[in-house]
Amino acid sequence: MKIVNPATEEVIADIEAADATEADRVVERAGRAFADWRRVAPGDRARLLRRFAALVREHAEELALLEVANAGHTIGNARWEAGNVADVLDFYAGAPERNHGKQIPVPGGLDVTFQEPLGVVGVIVPWNFPMVIMTWGVAPALAAGNTVVVKPAEWTPLSALRLAELALAAGLPEGVFQVLPGAGEVAGARLVGHPAVAKIVFTGSTEVGKEIAARCAGQVKRITLELGGKSANVVFADADLAKAAASAPYAVFDNAGQDCCARSRILVERSVHEEFLTRLDEAVLKVRVGDPRDEATEMGPLISAAHRERVASFVTEPPHLQGTCPTGPGFWFPPTVLTPRSTDDRAFTEEIFGPVVSVVPFDGEDDAVRIANDTPYGLSGSIWTRDVGRALRVARAVEAGNLSVNSHSSVRYWTPFGGFKQSGLGRELGPDALSAFTETKNVFISEE
Ligand code: NAD
Repeated sequence: MKIVNPATEEVIADIEAADATEADRVVERAGRAFADWRRVAPGDRARLLRRFAALVREHAEELALLEVANAGHTIGNARWEAGNVADVLDFYAGAPERNHGKQIPVPGGLDVTFQEPLGVVGVIVPWNFPMVIMTWGVAPALAAGNTVVVKPAEWTPLSALRLAELALAAGLPEGVFQVLPGAGEVAGARLVGHPAVAKIVFTGSTEVGKEIAARCAGQVKRITLELGGKSANVVFADADLAKAAASAPYAVFDNAGQDCCARSRILVERSVHEEFLTRLDEAVLKVRVGDPRDEATEMGPLISAAHRERVASFVTEPPHLQGTCPTGPGFWFPPTVLTPRSTDDRAFTEEIFGPVVSVVPFDGEDDAVRIANDTPYGLSGSIWTRDVGRALRVARAVEAGNLSVNSHSSVRYWTPFGGFKQSGLGRELGPDALSAFTETKNVFISEE
């Protein structure tokens, strides 16, 4: 696989793609490692994860620069991402000693539950946030005593490969955490179909996620799915409009819009629609698009030429506004604002996964909720209002897994993350993540 820097179009690495036979070898190694890893004392497993986190912190700048070169992330974002990897590992390093079951009162003996690890877990990762998304699966899976095989996206395997080296250097035994770079339809599909893989954590498109869910069903294989989104940013007339408008571009253009949580539909109460658009235009024109290595840059390129073509296909009419971006090498696309005439417009209903946002008016609370929910997706969203009661009512009514009021934050590693409807199945992160990587076993011990 030729690995390309999306900001320069230069080939930066050549990685051998694993075939199905290699996938089998890796799974077999993970299976052997599981027998020992599950027996490592909880405190020792915790110490190893902490050491891994510490090594990630030591190498944070190197990892960040890998993500800048391989995924076109801005250096500011990439530094946050390397820090998030270390934080997530540290957080779940606290889990092995707390992974306790229950003692349940029963007559004639003792009844206890155990949280048993599943075995080999396959983590299939997209290209938009390679090392962060990978770690959200890997860290709790390892903490619970599973071994893990990561299948990174074809475009972006470099940070995953480096993290696997750091894990070994931290003392994680061979086979506990492996990376299998290769094509989705080959290496990924083999992980999904392999009978010795107990669970698949898949993050990616809803289309591929459905296919994987159907294949897993054949073996009743456990799955967590983190899929697409088309999230709404709902702005009421009583909101702090200046703040809502100034922050809206970053809620959708961050990572060049290649973010499953992108608030790509802005719904604005009709009485302030014009005023909001004027303020939004000003804010969009301020977004600094360019060299991702420059600390002042706020938005980098798209991942590939093919993806840029797909994003461009959604802009069929002259846009309401388009910002600027570099010309020349690199897969650049400018921040773009659309004002579709209808909420049936393809740009308003489909996930674009690029820096394109659609703004539409609404009339009152019920209408806002109706439009926000008129989508098969349900990942995230924002609500801007000064009325606490309305904020609560709308937050309860919007069918999405991660909402923010007067803010656009979706992700904190210690709070749960995941989607309603076709945005996913199950939750990652937060205090309960280990339950997705364990089976509850009930044991009764007779007094007699
Ligand atoms: P994708 O579905 O094309 O690929 C994701 C991963 O699946 C890649 O590693 C790919 O190689 C692999 N894959 C593809 N076909 C496969 C198959 N048949 N069997 C097994 N594996 C296969 O998605 P993408 O284009 O890499 O990522 C973009 C999508 O990811 C967007 O829809 C985005 O919303 C979604 N996403 C969701 C979340 C979330 O947490 N909900 C987070 C990030 C991205």
